[in-house]
Amino acid sequence: MDAMTPFVLRSPQTVDEALALLAGNAGARPIAGGTDLLPNLRRGIGAPEMLVDLAGIEELQQLRRDGQGWWIGAGVTLHALAHHPEVLSELALLAQAAVAVAGPSHRAVATLGGNLCLDTRCVFYNQSEWWRQSNNYCLKYRGEVCHVAPQGARCHAAWSGDLAPALIALGASVDVLHRSGARKLPLEELYQDDGAKAVKLEPGELLMGVHIPAQAPGMRCAYRKARVRGAVDFPLAGVAMRVLTSGEVLTDVRVALTGTNSHPLLLQGTEALCGKALDDATLAALGKLVQKQVSPMRSTVTASNYRRQVASVLAQRLLRELAHP
Ligand SMILES: Cc1cc2nc3c(=O)[nH]c(=O)nc-3n(C[C@H](O)[C@H](O)[C@H](O)COP(=O)(O)OP(=O)(O)OC[C@H]3O[C@@H](n4cnc5c(N)ncnc54)[C@H](O)[C@@H]3O)c2cc1C
Ligand code: SF4
Repeated sequence: MDAMTPFVLRSPQTVDEALALLAGNAGARPIAGGTDLLPNLRRGIGAPEMLVDLAGIEELQQLRRDGQGWWIGAGVTLHALAHHPEVLSELALLAQAAVAVAGPSHRAVATLGGNLCLDTRCVFYNQSEWWRQSNNYCLKYRGEVCHVAPQGARCHAAWSGDLAPALIALGASVDVLHRSGARKLPLEELYQDDGAKAVKLEPGELLMGVHIPAQAPGMRCAYRKARVRGAVDFPLAGVAMRVLTSGEVLTDVRVALTGTNSHPLLLQGTEALCGKALDDATLAALGKLVQKQVSPMRSTVTASNYRRQVASVLAQRLLRELAHP
């Protein structure tokens, strides 16, 4: 990797200070654990003049629960999430997703906010400067042509964060703050299907944290991912699922996926599975929904169709597991 280009590092202690720094410096970027941003900068992807380090801001590090549900600050580390006793017992899929990210030393500093604001990934993009330069760069950064879909005019890099689908399956919303105001939106609406800009944050905006609504009694949930290396790797496909049953009958099925599209995908049409018992027809219907809505492209080392099939099979296995524990 290359040396980083010069930058100024600022370490605000409050959200207000951080927002003022971001609003006052067009070339500033927030940095949390740095486990995504720093490797990219060292590959020559971006050259911010200022990094605004969020690690010292206590307001972002709160994890609390009340009658309405949970609040998890953007600065909470993935290690803390994966080992929190109540998260483990009540929001199992969130702990499963957190512990599935990278390796232990990454998770010790990597944060929820950084994971939700992750850059998308592609084999033609996550490369050294000299490699990308020798290939005339690509549409996403400095180039003109997308090597994955050369006829098209958009980037198909894959969303590969593990936490977004888990939180979307739980119905989470996200708080975003700018110096001039705040907005709250369902987490899935923070994203768009554009690999060059999947996260819809404007310059100067900070993600404050997520709110997870109280879950219905009896809710079961889980997260599974397929990856090339079992120990440390981004998902080729990941599926998060929340299921409620009444007796033998499915009453709520909420599914979100990662690794297959340029944004975390909230699966549409799962209400058609409700009111039905779990049988081969229901599993086949879920498999079809997944196959139709995912759109993996040739942006990873594995074939697109493999990721499509894996996503479908993971979803069916999860439904079987959660409907009849
Ligand atoms: C070897 C390796 C393996 C990895 N494997 C995985 C994996 O399996 N799954 C996975 O999901 N990720 C993986 N990652 C990526 C990364 O480690 C994690 O996604 C991590 O959670 C990123 O969090 P961070 O705090 O380090 O983010 P940072 O690198 O600090 O920031 C990431 C992005 O988010 C922005 N940002 C951070 N916080 C905020 C905020 N509060 N508001 C607005 N913007 C913000 C930054 O400006 C930057 O653009 C891997 C990384 C490496 C190096
Ligand atoms: S999908 Fe195309 S434009 Fe996007 S990073 Fe890959 S090669 Fe570049």
